[in-house]
Amino acid sequence: MLTDLDAAVDALAAVDVAGAEVGQLRVLAVGLEKAAGRLRGIASAMLGEIEDREPEGAAWWWRDALGISGEAAGIAIRRARGLRSLPAVSDAVVDGTLSLDQAGALVPLVGKLDEVELHDSQPALIEGAAARTVDGIGQWVRHLIALNSEPALELEQEEARRRRFLEYRTGPDGVVRGRFALAAEEAEPVLTVLEPLAKRSGDDDPRTAGQRRADALVEVFGGAARWAELPHAGGQRAQISYVISAAWAAGQAGAGPATAAWTGPQTRARLEAELCDARLSRVLLDADGQVVSLESVNDQISTAQRRAVSARDRRCVARGCSRPPAFCDVHHLIARKDGGPTTLDNLVLLCRRHHVVWHQGRLLLRDLDVPWLRKPLDPPMVA
Ligand SMILES: [Zn+2]
Ligand SMILES: [Zn+2]
Repeated sequence: MLTDLDAAVDALAAVDVAGAEVGQLRVLAVGLEKAAGRLRGIASAMLGEIEDREPEGAAWWWRDALGISGEAAGIAIRRARGLRSLPAVSDAVVDGTLSLDQAGALVPLVGKLDEVELHDSQPALIEGAAARTVDGIGQWVRHLIALNSEPALELEQEEARRRRFLEYRTGPDGVVRGRFALAAEEAEPVLTVLEPLAKRSGDDDPRTAGQRRADALVEVFGGAARWAELPHAGGQRAQISYVISAAWAAGQAGAGPATAAWTGPQTRARLEAELCDARLSRVLLDADGQVVSLESVNDQISTAQRRAVSARDRRCVARGCSRPPAFCDVHHLIARKDGGPTTLDNLVLLCRRHHVVWHQGRLLLRDLDVPWLRKPLDPPMVA
């Protein structure tokens, strides 16, 4: 049988793709994908039968036979086993009505719903699954479980909670990459906070949805770093520290870059945005690393000033932006290093994105919505 199949595959592989017409290729590509799906369904049904007769070591055998990961083999086995309880669904994969992934998404129902009822509801399940994406089926299945069995949903959630994780690591480029999985109820507050923050901030917002979510995450943590009762480290509340040279601070050319503890070198615009709304201390070390002096080097923005600026501006003042005060920096219109004072008429709210854009020189006074600003600023800043 497999010899015939191989011969058929060989014949298809011999098709002159470059010489074929697009219409013909379309028919073939779709047909082959569908056939591949049906073949996977047949293989899965056989896998289920093998596992049923010789459950011991089936996952290991499947892993080694295909050279796939143990995790992937385990998933295939669990799906095959589940589909044995849903024979009509299994057949629907073989006849091409459902993909194996669509059918697999129905498997969580097995063991959670009454067996006879589940068996009888297969036609409806097939129809519902055929009309949905794999993720959509997953949500639908959770809904069905919740509708029919509260304890089963509880179990499901416990299982999801057990699988929660968050992994990240810092690459040599300083970029932090990671993955995570959160159970539904844990993800809820996270999405409730992130989603509104991840909306486009005005018509000038060129960021992709993924970039906006990433920025929102950073904003939330920026707020936490500034306001939250963070764990103490060495008797001190955690704070973000940067190491900058005197030459860098003075804006001298050729000064080495500023660096942060976790992620290494930082650009000037980003760090200036950070420093614009920070309390700075200068720690002077001698050649042996002994602390020679420690001094506060700027006037801190007071809580009362923050409150006043928030009440006056009510949002990021970049035109078209609606980021609320809790997620804004307080920005010095005339920079501290240019002698700008920490007084109300020199302070405005800017969200982190617009704040950095300002310090990159791409957001100017005329782009801000600051009707209260009467007296013109020093010419250099109006640029
Ligand atoms: Zn600033
Ligand atoms: Zn903004």
